[in-house]
Amino acid sequence: MMNKIEHIGIAVKNLSEAVEIYSKLFNQPSYKTEVVESESVTTSFFQIGENKIELLEATKPTSAIAKFIENKGEGIHHIAFDVDDIVKELERLKKEGFIILNEQPKKGADNKLVCFVHPKSANGVLIELCQEIK
Ligand code: ZN
Repeated sequence: MMNKIEHIGIAVKNLSEAVEIYSKLFNQPSYKTEVVESESVTTSFFQIGENKIELLEATKPTSAIAKFIENKGEGIHHIAFDVDDIVKELERLKKEGFIILNEQPKKGADNKLVCFVHPKSANGVLIELCQEIK
């Protein structure tokens, strides 16, 4: 089951500049900055009520974030949904015909298991499923 929007991911060129801007926007600091090797990104998180905003900067030119910015510029990159059982949800979505980018959930930012649904199968929106690692 999908519970709620966990976070919205925003691709940025310069993380420290973006963190400064969003700290002013939200009137609070980022609570966490973390390098995610598997995705070649550095991320910073803000908690807004029960949802979060994730800013993502590429650490390598081959990072999906670098490619995204090259093609589309900075902006909303993905929407992440909190799920109770990521494996079950993956199976369900596969059966429904969605294209899954990683068949095995992997360790993502902010202590989560994550997987992604290809934007091609969701009207141009990259969907992330995430399950908290307990
Ligand atoms: Zn994310």
